[in-house]
Amino acid sequence: MLMTSEKQEFIQELREGVRAVCKRFNNEYWRQLDEVNGYPTEFVRAITDAGFLGALIPEEYGGSGLGILEASIILEEINRSGGNAGACHAQMYTMGTILRHGSSEQKRKYLPKIADGSLRLQAFGVTEPNTGTDTTNLKTFARREGDHYVVNGQKVFISRAEHSDLMILLVRTTPREECKKKSDGLSVLIVDLNEAKGNGLEIRPIKTMMNHATTEIFIENLKVPIENLIGEEGRGFRYILDGMNAERILIAAECIGDGRWFIEKATNYANERVVFNRAIGQNQGIQFPIATAHIHIEAADLMRFKAAELYDAGAACGAEANMSKLLAADASWEAANVALQTHGGFGFAAEYDIERKFKETRLYQVAPISTNLILSYVAEHVLGLPKSY
Ligand SMILES: Cc1cc2nc3c(=O)[nH]c(=O)nc-3n(C[C@H](O)[C@H](O)[C@H](O)COP(=O)(O)OP(=O)(O)OC[C@H]3O[C@@H](n4cnc5c(N)ncnc54)[C@H](O)[C@@H]3O)c2cc1C
Repeated sequence: MLMTSEKQEFIQELREGVRAVCKRFNNEYWRQLDEVNGYPTEFVRAITDAGFLGALIPEEYGGSGLGILEASIILEEINRSGGNAGACHAQMYTMGTILRHGSSEQKRKYLPKIADGSLRLQAFGVTEPNTGTDTTNLKTFARREGDHYVVNGQKVFISRAEHSDLMILLVRTTPREECKKKSDGLSVLIVDLNEAKGNGLEIRPIKTMMNHATTEIFIENLKVPIENLIGEEGRGFRYILDGMNAERILIAAECIGDGRWFIEKATNYANERVVFNRAIGQNQGIQFPIATAHIHIEAADLMRFKAAELYDAGAACGAEANMSKLLAADASWEAANVALQTHGGFGFAAEYDIERKFKETRLYQVAPISTNLILSYVAEHVLGLPKSY
């Protein structure tokens, strides 16, 4: 699966374009935000204005119509620069539910504005406090009343909701007991957050280990117009699943960006730091873990490219997308640990940025899907082992 030289050249130009924007937002910018749990509004505006978050939106709707491979390069470069694409990555891919399953009217209404950034669709409400990973058991319920739904329920860890105009919300529309399959009876609604706030929807920030703008959402008798239903009622779980391979590949790319950042930091520090009259990097006890982490990042990158190429060719890629996410998340976490260890005490000092990125990359062992759930997918769907839950 070798890329043509034109494609390689395009990807290189894309990397340089993203780097040019990221250069304006250095480690100090991200560090200061980390200290106050602030949202990187200026960065998100700049990366939007440069057109990068509209990468996956077709040209007819004002985006650049690129593939998942190119989109993944954009997010990789943000993290590779020391930034955190988690602040805006969902603006890139959440719209996929509308693009793939929305009506032509919904596409015309939303996609051009998402592409130019005048509408933010970067909140995605799936997880609930009492059901967690057991998504089809979720309790938020939308009852149809005339020309609208009345929604009641609660969501947790819904990121960027305070910085989004719209939210994709997964709800139950038919009680689970009345469905043949537990994955039936779920539906996807587009919620206009600006209208909903204070009118049946309340957002409460959750303070987390890293700066991530995540929230808890309380929904009480929220009215959502019927025209905001995406696709067919009851088929929402399939629509959400359809977007997951893209998300896995994009998150894998962010982890690879993180991993490369950690390895560069560790290498530079190991070359510069002199203890016992020699650079610490001269000790193989320091070199080998950095080299091992580098090897693991490069191996994960191959799986990311394989998954992305299959995805862009329209081929099945569930196994590769999941495996790339697991390999990359493990490799970036390993690189984070190695960078911290290489920096000794200074790794814990905020001004070195290691502890900030260390916290950020740790998330990807848990969200958007935890390591165990990927292992379970591969065991059952790739290897044919018995279903365990
Ligand atoms: C910072 C952050 C941002 C997030 N952003 C969003 C968002 O924008 N939108 C959204 O909908 N969600 C979001 N999430 C939620 C995230 O997707 C969930 O936290 C994740 O899916 C795990 O669900 P849970 O926390 O309820 O864990 P649980 O489901 O309670 O699981 C706890 C642990 O048990 C393990 N486990 C559970 N069942 C099994 C099993 N059968 N076999 C083996 N192990 C099992 C899990 O892997 C996990 O390690 C976010 C989470 C965080 C922390």
